[in-house]
Amino acid sequence: MCIFCKIVNKEIQGNIVHESEHFLAFNDLYPKAPIHILIIPKQHVDCFQEVGAETMSGMTTFIQEVASKVGIDNTGYRLVTNNGEDGGQEVRHLHFHLLGGGKLIWDHSHEDAHNFI
Ligand code: 5GP
Ligand code: ZN
Repeated sequence: MCIFCKIVNKEIQGNIVHESEHFLAFNDLYPKAPIHILIIPKQHVDCFQEVGAETMSGMTTFIQEVASKVGIDNTGYRLVTNNGEDGGQEVRHLHFHLLGGGKLIWDHSHEDAHNFI
């Protein structure tokens, strides 16, 4: 069983922020922003490439609820999913990173700006 499934099953502690029948939101163990929440479907799906549109429909509403609950719905946030090896996905259970609580860095320059090795 993967570590996020263990958090769903309450086998390991997850510091839960929000929960519904099908989705779970909990704080990232190593936050990269003042607010850094991981949002997952309770049912195991490996990655974004494997998820169905029906799950994503529910996920959209759930993510919006989480953003409102932690008070970043108006100030803004970044939503990220790393998919597969090149995407840098380390935990193979679909998750969205919800980052906010401060102005986030983003390189808007058009010169020599690349995000690949
Ligand atoms: P990925 O690199 O797969 O997109 O993101 C995995 C995230 O899970 C990382 O940001 C990492 O800090 C977080 N993480 C890894 N293990 C645990 C854990 O046991 N509990 C929590 N809450 N977060 C974890
Ligand atoms: Zn899992």
